[in-house]
Amino acid sequence: MFTYPLPTQAGDSSPITLTNPVFLADLHLSAEVPAIVSGFLRFLETDALAYDEILLLGDIFDAWIGDDARDEWEAVQTRCLALKAQGKRLYLMQGNRDFMMGKDLAKAWGATLLADPVIATIKGKRYLLSHGDQWCTNDVTYQAARVRIRRAWWQAMILSLPRGIRAGIARRAREKSRAHQKSTTVTLMDVTPSAIEAAIQTHNVDGLIHGHTHRPAEHTLAEGHTRWVLPDWREKDHVLTQAGYLALDAQSPSGFALVSLLKESP
Ligand code: MN
Repeated sequence: MFTYPLPTQAGDSSPITLTNPVFLADLHLSAEVPAIVSGFLRFLETDALAYDEILLLGDIFDAWIGDDARDEWEAVQTRCLALKAQGKRLYLMQGNRDFMMGKDLAKAWGATLLADPVIATIKGKRYLLSHGDQWCTNDVTYQAARVRIRRAWWQAMILSLPRGIRAGIARRAREKSRAHQKSTTVTLMDVTPSAIEAAIQTHNVDGLIHGHTHRPAEHTLAEGHTRWVLPDWREKDHVLTQAGYLALDAQSPSGFALVSLLKESP
């Protein structure tokens, strides 16, 4: 019997403890967004050095056709390994675009692949880390597709195809996803308050940190809980127009702050 590496089963669900983390998501790296790629490489060489743990919470890539295609991202790999050599810890989580990132990629980058969601203890408080798409429960069409593409047999079948074919499938999936976003109302594409409430209760956490919705914000919820939404990265005409992350901030009442990498922007 053939066995395939199955990313669905690969994420580590053990709780983690973080001392000085930085959280990023939704960079949607691809050859089509060179300003984001170079901005991310610059981040890994400069800003990332100020932190002990670098967490990439999904949709790092606009598409991921399998860990065997990681040779297209050697520049990122080199910088991740340089961070590891400096004692930094790197964590990856799958998003809805790069849901096939697996343990081979994590190993090559010196990273840990996290399950979604996973609990992180930071300064004695408990936080739930997630990409966030699982909480957009009102988008029934999307949730059905989410279940489908996470089935082990489906991923095994896709991963058994030649790279060129997989790249074509990914391209068509992106076009379909764009069409779905255009035809879907704005509220459907945000998280559902009841799903957020359930996640907080189930996991008994003080706060949630997630990406996916492209609505960067700090939301104060009932009973002092907080929900941070990570910024997506954007470029226009090969210039970065939005890029940032979440990190600890002693001045902020919530303990964290969203930081923009575009320091000169208004
Ligand atoms: Mn996403």
